[in-house]
Amino acid sequence: MKSRGLTIKKSAWQKLKLHFSEAFSEQFEYQRYDGDAGPDQQLARKRGRDAYRYIMLLLAFVLGPMLAHDLYTGQTLLAIASSLLLAILLANIWLLSGNRRAFLSPTPLLGLGILLILLAVTVGQSYSIYWLYPLLAGLPVLLRSRRSLAVGLVSGALALPLAFARFDASSAAVLSFSMATTWLVSAWLVFSVTEQSRRLRDMAVTDPLTGAYNRRYLEEQAVHAMESWQRYRHSTTMLLIDVDHFKRINDRYGHAVGDTAIKGLVELVAQRLRAVDTLCRFGGEEFVVLLQGTGMDGATRVAEDLRALVEGAKILPEGSMTISIGLCEVIAADSVDHWFNLTDSALYLAKHKGRNRVETARQVLAERAPVAKTVPDWR
Ligand code: GH3
Ligand code: MG
Ligand code: MG
Repeated sequence: MKSRGLTIKKSAWQKLKLHFSEAFSEQFEYQRYDGDAGPDQQLARKRGRDAYRYIMLLLAFVLGPMLAHDLYTGQTLLAIASSLLLAILLANIWLLSGNRRAFLSPTPLLGLGILLILLAVTVGQSYSIYWLYPLLAGLPVLLRSRRSLAVGLVSGALALPLAFARFDASSAAVLSFSMATTWLVSAWLVFSVTEQSRRLRDMAVTDPLTGAYNRRYLEEQAVHAMESWQRYRHSTTMLLIDVDHFKRINDRYGHAVGDTAIKGLVELVAQRLRAVDTLCRFGGEEFVVLLQGTGMDGATRVAEDLRALVEGAKILPEGSMTISIGLCEVIAADSVDHWFNLTDSALYLAKHKGRNRVETARQVLAERAPVAKTVPDWR
């Protein structure tokens, strides 16, 4: 693969590797119902479906030889049960390949697979017990930790007496111990991969200085808020906060004190916000707050509170600093860029009118009205 060339051609093997690593990039929870979801969730669900498809393919590799063996040994009952489960598996794989929903979720599928194996052991095929290993390894990948533990424990409780009835005591003990280890190793691997991807995700969306979200996260959330408005008429108001005369603060106290002031500001603002609101560092000493489910009037009150809070707090070594805030409700914008621009114009107006104040996009549009002639009727 050449990164400098114009066409980046991937070999079939590289494509397959990429596909697998994406499908298993996070611990997924297979969800049968797509419902309405943002682009991120849809991608996570698609990955979940891909991973589920691969696991079913793996199960088909277990069931295929089992069925062949049942047919060879003339075990009609087992052969019928294996073919049924195999047919269900193949139908689900086919559905998922066409990006449709599977009709059997992982818990009953794995439960049925395990029961089938235990049935084979009961009717005399003792060696079928070895088929439990791949299923036990797949459990923590497919099911959430508690559910996977529950299914593992139930299968263990059923398999243990069977193992002791069909094998001598030491073989049965080794079998039980190695099966438990298989489940534990797989669970540990899944846990560490999930933890690692969670940490990476946190790092990718967090601003290192303040611990607030960063611009990347803000852009995702703004798109989400815009979709939420267009789809459900669920409104969000954006606040753009900028510290007044911050250059002077840096010049007077130095960059380190400036950094501490930025951190202090974030702590102060975060205290006033609700858990559903999003606070992001947009860059330098500029911050964006998304107030979910809040219209212009509510948001103006919050912004005014924040402005007064910062003015009254002793963030700097000698006294306080002030902020200016521009705000705009999503209703006023036709696109995310438009929304950002309107909020930015409101902030510009606040700066222009003397700083340490709150201005709304409504005000911006009203002041432009004589030129534009049309004020959008957004309420
Ligand atoms: P205004 O009232 O018009 O906003 O004036 P201002 O001086 O705050 O102007 P502006 O917002 O354009 O300036 C931002 C300054 O913030 C520029 C830069 O020196 C400083 N700055 C940006 N990022 C950081 C940072 O991470 N730490 C510190 N200490 N200063 C920063
Ligand atoms: Mg500033
Ligand atoms: Mg600035």
